[in-house]
Amino acid sequence: MVKLIGIPFDKKSSFLQGPALAPVRIRQVLHNGSSNYWTEKLQNPIEHPDFSDGGDLTVEHYEDIEKELRQVLKPGVKLLSLGGDHSVTYPLIKVYKEVYGSFDILHIDAHGDLYQAFEGDPHSHACPFARIMEEGLVNRLVQVGVRTLNPHQLEQAQRFGVEQITMLDFEEKWRSLEFNRPLYISMDLDGLDPAFAPGVSHHEPGGLSTRQVLDLFHRVDAELIGADIVEYNPHRDVSDMTAAVAAKLLKELAAKMV
Ligand code: MN
Ligand code: MN
Repeated sequence: MVKLIGIPFDKKSSFLQGPALAPVRIRQVLHNGSSNYWTEKLQNPIEHPDFSDGGDLTVEHYEDIEKELRQVLKPGVKLLSLGGDHSVTYPLIKVYKEVYGSFDILHIDAHGDLYQAFEGDPHSHACPFARIMEEGLVNRLVQVGVRTLNPHQLEQAQRFGVEQITMLDFEEKWRSLEFNRPLYISMDLDGLDPAFAPGVSHHEPGGLSTRQVLDLFHRVDAELIGADIVEYNPHRDVSDMTAAVAAKLLKELAAKMV
């Protein structure tokens, strides 16, 4: 069973608020009739009998996310989550580890999100992958699209054995990416170039095209056990174009999960 859930939470955003509004806005664009439910490979995951929309989690405080997730993530369930800022991925992976055991993460992002703490907060949206790696929650973390490294985050990546395909070596390396364990995909929309996805808090030029992300998803042949789409900020969007990107990625990810 694949369950779509919303995590309307942005209290760990360091710069702007807005991603708490993302789940409702992405669903609106998914269902507004501007596009059909079919993927590029002719699947219709949205109307598939194994797909359902579980609505939004009730989240006021960060700690609520983990509690709520324990109610919905059970063996046999795969979650497709709409964030939320990227802080939601740590509780997601924590609960995934309990249910699924051993798996890898493909993380698409302009940022490494590997700060030991950011502005004093170890659970900031700039830190989830430091928490995940320091607790050994996954076998392998592969980051794609990173283009904001600094000495601290590079050191963290080396310390935790994080594999990175930065924008500098994307063209050369992306086709050699292979996964041999079940896979979780964490999609920060700012991994895309702001020209394709302006509706994010942190505009970081020089990023991936929507086409490159779709090709990357299509190339993955490991079993996809879960995915999140995070950091959509409707306040920054232009004519819902980033919501449309999120809705398209949602369909393509859901198709790999059903
Ligand atoms: Mn991120
Ligand atoms: Mn980011």
